[in-house]
Amino acid sequence: MADAATMDKIVALCKRRGFVFASSEIYGGLGSTYDYGHYGVLLKSNVKNEWWRAMLQERDDIVALDSAILQHPRTWEASGHLAGFTDPMVDCRTCGQRFRADHLQDLECPRKPSRHPGEAEMCDLTEARDFNLMFETTMGPVKDSGATVYLRPETAQGIFVNFKNVLQFSRKKPPFGIAQIGKSFRNEITPGNFVFRTREFEQMEMEFFVPPGEAADWYEFWKAARLQWYVDLGLRADHLRLREHDADELSHYSSATADVEYLFPIGWSELEGIANRGDFDLTQHAAFSGEKLEYFDPQTKERYVPHVIEPAAGADRATLAFLVDAYDEEEVDGEQRTVLKLHPRLAPIKVAVLPLVRKDGQPEVAREVAAALRGRMQAEYDEGGSIGKRYRRQDEIGTPFCVTIDHQTLEDRTVTVRDRDTLAQDRVAIDELPDALAARLAEPWQSPKLARA
Ligand code: ATP
Repeated sequence: MADAATMDKIVALCKRRGFVFASSEIYGGLGSTYDYGHYGVLLKSNVKNEWWRAMLQERDDIVALDSAILQHPRTWEASGHLAGFTDPMVDCRTCGQRFRADHLQDLECPRKPSRHPGEAEMCDLTEARDFNLMFETTMGPVKDSGATVYLRPETAQGIFVNFKNVLQFSRKKPPFGIAQIGKSFRNEITPGNFVFRTREFEQMEMEFFVPPGEAADWYEFWKAARLQWYVDLGLRADHLRLREHDADELSHYSSATADVEYLFPIGWSELEGIANRGDFDLTQHAAFSGEKLEYFDPQTKERYVPHVIEPAAGADRATLAFLVDAYDEEEVDGEQRTVLKLHPRLAPIKVAVLPLVRKDGQPEVAREVAAALRGRMQAEYDEGGSIGKRYRRQDEIGTPFCVTIDHQTLEDRTVTVRDRDTLAQDRVAIDELPDALAARLAEPWQSPKLARA
């Protein structure tokens, strides 16, 4: 059966339900920048929390870091970004638009959308030129004499420049990792496909420092672990793959790189890259800063520059993949419903509490139930509109459980619990509800779309 999810439907649902919408909308928006509303914030923060959980809580060899977005400009000389973080671009003299020269086949001519840029007769493209993707700004109060600094294009360099600090206070030794989540900025020539490629985005990056002889094994380990993370959070395994880079795709510093790719409606696209970066970064920063960035093993008396395995993911791109994978349309009792079958751990709201009618003492009991649940999980109280309409609303934001308070509740203090995926309804005693729902949220879950495939 064809997947119901298209990019247009995801964008429309995100706007309709306030997950994600165009930034600065009242001024007409700002190209490819987006703001996250209530449910979007909750969903993306659940994605990030799951990443922290996998990195920090479930392991004891990784520590956290939150480095500044603005870094010493020498950082970007050492990392190679100043000289080499470029994409080839072409300008069209007819429409005045700029395109990524290596993406022309995926783009539409703004004047003739049925053609790619350069294909229509009127197109007049320049030769390709390199364009640096780093945003530049000035530090200090006077523009002319201030220092040029850059908004970081990746979070990773903040980890490398702090290697020595972290090694001292964390009392770790290789193999160990430093993980960070934060905003990165790239002046992408052709952003697009909603939050898939934007100029401001959040990355989840971890640098794993290992003895050089162990790098190949750890590379294999992190490829498998990172792929599994997406599967465990409910992405359909047949929509995920690992793609090893060909030799001509590899960055100059990397001996091996693989992408975790997801089958988006726009085709297979990168979710995350896992790279074996060797000792490139620490060696470069040591050379540019004059600091020794190495590890001395007191047992073997050996001194070495650790090699680095880097899983680098995008929080917005992962959130988009979870939305796409969850999006479904089906017929229930002769009516169409749109539903986000999100993994319950990712769902923005875990439970909605709904009085059947707005009278007879039902709202009071419902508010009491919602308050009791709130201490345990993200709960929402909703009394507006028909019960059918409220169920549809919760389905669209992916709420796994709806608790309904009805006339029987007033008699025996039980409520109905409706399951988003199976639509089964059980009666549960109010006193047992928080534990019962917490237990159901902790159960393993897999996409109901899998069973149908
Ligand atoms: P792409 O080839 O798509 O430009 P990349 O290989 O340059 O990505 P990395 O530098 O490896 O990306 O960054 C790691 C992750 O950060 C990517 O896998 C992606 O999830 C995310 N990311 C990178 N650029 C963007 C962007 N412009 N918008 C949203 N997420 C991004």
